[in-house]
Amino acid sequence: MEIKTIGVVGAGTMGAGIAQVAARAGFKVIMRDVEENFVARGQSTIRKNLEREVQKNRLSEQEARDILERITGTVHLADLAACDFVIEAIIEQMPLKKELYRQLDQICPAHTIFASNTSGLSITEMAAATGRPSRFIGMHFFNPVPVMKLVEIIKAAETSPETLEVTRELTGKLGKEYILVNESPLFAVNRILVPMLNEAMFVLMEGVASAQDIDKGMMLGANHPIGPLALCDLIGLDVMLMVTETLYQETGDSKYRPCPLLRKMVRAGHLGRKTGRGFYVYNQ
Ligand code: NAD
Repeated sequence: MEIKTIGVVGAGTMGAGIAQVAARAGFKVIMRDVEENFVARGQSTIRKNLEREVQKNRLSEQEARDILERITGTVHLADLAACDFVIEAIIEQMPLKKELYRQLDQICPAHTIFASNTSGLSITEMAAATGRPSRFIGMHFFNPVPVMKLVEIIKAAETSPETLEVTRELTGKLGKEYILVNESPLFAVNRILVPMLNEAMFVLMEGVASAQDIDKGMMLGANHPIGPLALCDLIGLDVMLMVTETLYQETGDSKYRPCPLLRKMVRAGHLGRKTGRGFYVYNQ
């Protein structure tokens, strides 16, 4: 199956990044968000990213213009009828995602494959909201999409071998590496990363070591590029709590229980960098 046009639903942090990468790889892209100003914000992020690439001589001005021209912004879901492959990156709420897929299923031709960029919701549950569960798959990109090399390809209950093959090929054309994951809560990378971050918070809460020393220890002792608590501040403590809760609830395994300190900090409104205070204080 030849993919010519890729639909991207959601023009936020991830959607704009995915649209940029797809257009840069030569695909026509239709990027949809619910309001004109959200679409415009996504397009402006892409333009700025490409301008930076031009300044660094990684892209010519003409190439940057061509990439931008390949991206069509829209607020009309019906415009996605032209797409062979649709990647969804809307907010992380199952009822909204299911409603979107029910509509897309009516709009898109039978051959169109749907891929969700969810961080951890069930791909199988979304696929079941459509009449095409065999042409449904997970494509989990990492932030920032133009920089991060990895895509987790997630096989849901009914994903067909053909859908998997088309998605693998597409991932390669987008210039990414992939790992294959059978659907499971938080997939593979975050399933390993999130409990490690949660454990770092327990170590802090129990007074085993200071925040600075925990981060220094993991950077110098385990060769991590950033300490776990600094990473939590970057991700946002509210997001951390949500994903840890998901892992805990989905598995029912007490080893994944969110650290009480995390809960307390979220209740206090200390969410990390975005509020200027988390495990560290930031000048805003
Ligand atoms: P975001 O809030 O930056 O963007 C979401 C966008 O979706 C918003 O612009 C919103 O207006 C739009 N939207 C909502 N409903 C829509 C609809 N029905 N149709 C079209 N657009 C709609 O969020 P994000 O960080 O880009 O996350 C998007 C998805 O990617 C989520 O599922 C998230 O879990 C996942 N994800 C995020 C990250 C990350 O680090 N931010 C990493 C991997 C995966």
